[in-house]
Amino acid sequence: MIVMKFGGSSVESASAIERVAGIVRARLERRPVVVVSAMGKTTNKLLAIARAAVEGGRKEAIQRIHELRDYHSCEARQVAPLAERAELDLILDEHFQELTELAKGLAVLGEATPRSIDAIASYGERLSSAIVARALRHCGMDTAHLDSRSYLVTDNRFTQASPLYGPTYARLAEAIPPLLRAGKVVVMGGFIGATEDGVTTTLGRGGSDFSASLVGAAIGAEEIQIWTDVDGLLTCDPTILEGGHRVRVISFNEAAELAYFGAKVLHPSTLLPAMEKNIPVEILNSRRPDCEGTTILPQAPPTSNWIKSIACKKNVTVVDVSSTRMLMAHGFLHKIFEVFDRFETPVDMVTTSEVSVSLTIDNTRHLSEITRELSRFAEVSHEEGQAIICVVGDNIRYTPGVAGRIFKAVEGVNVRMISQGASLRNVSFVVQESALKPAVEALHAAFFSELDPEIFA
Ligand code: ASP
Ligand code: MG
Repeated sequence: MIVMKFGGSSVESASAIERVAGIVRARLERRPVVVVSAMGKTTNKLLAIARAAVEGGRKEAIQRIHELRDYHSCEARQVAPLAERAELDLILDEHFQELTELAKGLAVLGEATPRSIDAIASYGERLSSAIVARALRHCGMDTAHLDSRSYLVTDNRFTQASPLYGPTYARLAEAIPPLLRAGKVVVMGGFIGATEDGVTTTLGRGGSDFSASLVGAAIGAEEIQIWTDVDGLLTCDPTILEGGHRVRVISFNEAAELAYFGAKVLHPSTLLPAMEKNIPVEILNSRRPDCEGTTILPQAPPTSNWIKSIACKKNVTVVDVSSTRMLMAHGFLHKIFEVFDRFETPVDMVTTSEVSVSLTIDNTRHLSEITRELSRFAEVSHEEGQAIICVVGDNIRYTPGVAGRIFKAVEGVNVRMISQGASLRNVSFVVQESALKPAVEALHAAFFSELDPEIFA
């Protein structure tokens, strides 16, 4: 059994879906479960519909719903068997009518709760999975389309729900293997789930990868394949610096660090279920299915290269908190983090000295409240437009002098907040966004001028 997850760009059009069908067909003997994202940019469009409805643009919302329907209908018709067109139209009608009702409801209320946003966002994967299932059938495969909301059980933190592992694994493990044994290709939408009471939820943006990993872990798949539109993980972020090399093999821990620190190829939570069950994860390109991609394994083979990749995260805000009262006092860090916790703001990186703490956040929605609360017992300032650079490799822990080489390479750049996590697998630091590209360039030249061909392509 394998899980094959196809991202939005891999199912964005009739021809992309046909490519997917070919890729799945070539792997039928491995008994695939296919997990799909919404087609193309559908999730963004659905969220825009919700926004338009709430902001008084009822007409605009309905116009956008029509466009989205036309898009789905046009692509789907090309991949569905002629005999099923009527049924397909019925399904589209049903979904888009419901969506229209929902949008009208939001327009009347003038407000969208996280719960209603999830209800709207869920249509993307509900539609794409129904369409892909039909397309596979059209190509001669026997398919079973499952509504993920009946299997992925989550808590009720709408727009950011977490799976309840017990019931989720139990339901998936009960339903899927018998279907696969009966020769069916199982097709499901990623990203979506439901609470125990059956209210629709989503796992957060990019969550289809996570869904695929949950499905794989639940059924004990031999492999989880993440099919996307790039060749795999690279030695540097291609949006910052071109000319990076593909990483052929990488460990779970290394890949997880990269995902946390901004490698967009993989949703950060994806690897956890796979890691727990020791299931290899492959990142593959649906436009170039013959490229071997990146394999993520429990343990990567030994290599002479010191690091595997350089990840970056832009749009970071550094918050500096200092107080002389921190000297010799206890409970100070607790007080600080309690405030971030209260405002549900995740902290990424932390460095501390005797009297000050610097930390980075992504989400500045509650920054003014946080600042107000922290100001009760400390001096607070913040600086936007910062970036985190994260140098990752299992070898960092075994190789003396890595830090020296890193900071030698970025000599000319003003570096702040240096941190090496307990894993000893990454060295991270903060630079001004304007210094990001030259810093990554210098690091890349320093670490990847010679490549171990077993590990890099
Ligand atoms: N369609 C969802 C999103 O765009 C989930 C995913 O693609 O992974 O965020
Ligand atoms: Mg994605």
